[in-house]
Amino acid sequence: MRVVTLAGGTGAAKLLRGLAACVPQRDLTVIGNTGDDTEIWGLHVSPDLDTVIYALAGTLDAERGWGLADETFQCLRAMAAYGADTWFNLGDRDLATHLTRTRALRDGQSLSLVTARLAAALGVAARILPMSDDPVRTMIRTPGGRLTFQEYFVREKALVDVVGVDYEGATAAQPAPGVLDAIRTADLVVVCPSNPVTSVGPILAVPGIVDALSATAAPVVGVSPIVGGAAVRGPAAALMRTRGLPISPLGVASAYRPWLRRLLIDRSDLACVTELERLGVQTDLAEIVMKSREHETELARRVLERR
Ligand code: GDP
Repeated sequence: MRVVTLAGGTGAAKLLRGLAACVPQRDLTVIGNTGDDTEIWGLHVSPDLDTVIYALAGTLDAERGWGLADETFQCLRAMAAYGADTWFNLGDRDLATHLTRTRALRDGQSLSLVTARLAAALGVAARILPMSDDPVRTMIRTPGGRLTFQEYFVREKALVDVVGVDYEGATAAQPAPGVLDAIRTADLVVVCPSNPVTSVGPILAVPGIVDALSATAAPVVGVSPIVGGAAVRGPAAALMRTRGLPISPLGVASAYRPWLRRLLIDRSDLACVTELERLGVQTDLAEIVMKSREHETELARRVLERR
């Protein structure tokens, strides 16, 4: 069974680990968000792609949800001594990923090619595709000016007001090789529990991807990142508000209409079921907050059943 997923970072990583426990990794394709890609110390960092690769390689730091387990930060401290910005935590071993990616891009390789190489080198058999090889940058409009997503999320800790979100470069971007084909030929498409505005939104902004999702014969199934009127973690609620989306599974379903067929929601959101079905989205009540590996696998099993 070919399972194709749309994925951001931390929320996606958990469900992907669960899916990889249920289906062989080689049957899994991840279409990853590159809207949060950024340049730090001259290095090209792709936070969401790396989170996904590390999760599937079994090396993601489980507590933090980003970076490598058992990481050290000697280089970061040394950079601070030179007066460099250190609000973005780059770990010592993590640096090897960014150095390898940056050198390959500088040599003219595409982001998809270097992403595939990094994943393979770390023993990841799943196909990891960036949404696009072209630069798309999620920009957060605040009363004080525009910020990149990492400036907003990591440096400002998502504490500033948001008035809008733009996907710079999206209209001119093309889906990376294999993205549209993967969606068209999938047996199941899974929208991971990721931020609908800043993780899945940039993927959907790449021309052709929404059309492929609408045209595929595969059911498209989502897991809500919103539980009981709030994000499980992170700024999804504030960002959804700027889009006029209700902070509930209904807002998630509205962002993914009309191609979303089924949405897994938390039992505490039972009150949304009637309205969701009215929107044409089948609803499944489940334990969707993943607190353990067993939980991740159990939720993945629910996603895979009843296709
Ligand atoms: P980011 O790039 O690190 O922000 O990663 P994502 O967009 O993939 O993940 C953030 C989203 O995942 C947030 O909206 C969270 O509410 C959601 N999330 C995190 N953990 C869980 C979980 O265990 N279950 C569900 N349903 N959502 C989660």
